[in-house]
Amino acid sequence: RPMLTFDNVEFGYERDRQILHGLSFEVPAGGHVALVGPSGAGKSTIGRLLFRFYDPWQGRILIDGQDIAQVQQESLRAHIGIVPQDSVLFNDTIGYNIGYGREGAGDAEIIQAARDAAIWPFIKSLPQQLETEVGERGLKLSGGEKQRVAIARTLLKNPPILLLDEATSALDTRTEQDILGTLKRVSEGRTTISIAHRLSTIADSDLIYVIQDGRICEQGTHGRLLRHD
Ligand code: ADP
Ligand code: ADP
Repeated sequence: RPMLTFDNVEFGYERDRQILHGLSFEVPAGGHVALVGPSGAGKSTIGRLLFRFYDPWQGRILIDGQDIAQVQQESLRAHIGIVPQDSVLFNDTIGYNIGYGREGAGDAEIIQAARDAAIWPFIKSLPQQLETEVGERGLKLSGGEKQRVAIARTLLKNPPILLLDEATSALDTRTEQDILGTLKRVSEGRTTISIAHRLSTIADSDLIYVIQDGRICEQGTHGRLLRHD
């Protein structure tokens, strides 16, 4: 059975402005599925519903056959690892950032996650402190390194579902290719949902759903959808 099902989901943030219109799609267990569509189509909203920041007006969302309306947010967090477009890091070591909030994880696991995300060479590096005009401090890493930290953090949870929400959208093309390579490796055998606005970043997906105005308007493989363009 599917690992994730959106079944006729209707939703809007405000009563008089519906965003998702009977959205239905499935993600097979172990499958790599992508959701693409223009900005404003409702892609990030899907992630917010998945974590139950909001509940659908109508319809159901099932994880491994269970309606998430019956599942606590905490348990959803344990199930779904998210790599967002950009994440905020603490001004501390990379190891600290990877392990933050993962109380059960020991050093060996943090090191393994750092290796898997290919941020290992940096793990002991002391943060270079970066003073901005407003006096905030931040860990000075490149965009790609930051994404590797986010990937390692997620791997530490060993989540059955991996949600990549525009995980490479903020990167330059070359770095994007590097990170896509790492993501391909770490998502092997894991149910993966990639949210993207460009087809070029999701070439490795088994199935692509195209979302427009809160509904699936097309679905297919990368090759088939490209031939349509
Ligand atoms: P995408 O990720 O595809 O760019 P979103 O899911 O972020 O699209 O947004 C879909 C629509 O929902 C947009 O029209 C957006 O303006 C609206 N929207 C997103 N978040 C909120 C919110 N918190 N309150 C009201 N409207 C929102
Ligand atoms: P945890 O909550 O297990 O520590 P993380 O710290 O890796 O997980 O952050 C993931 C959490 O952040 C999710 O549980 C979710 O609540 C929230 N989150 C961050 N970015 C997004 C996003 N783009 N869409 C939905 N949820 C997000």
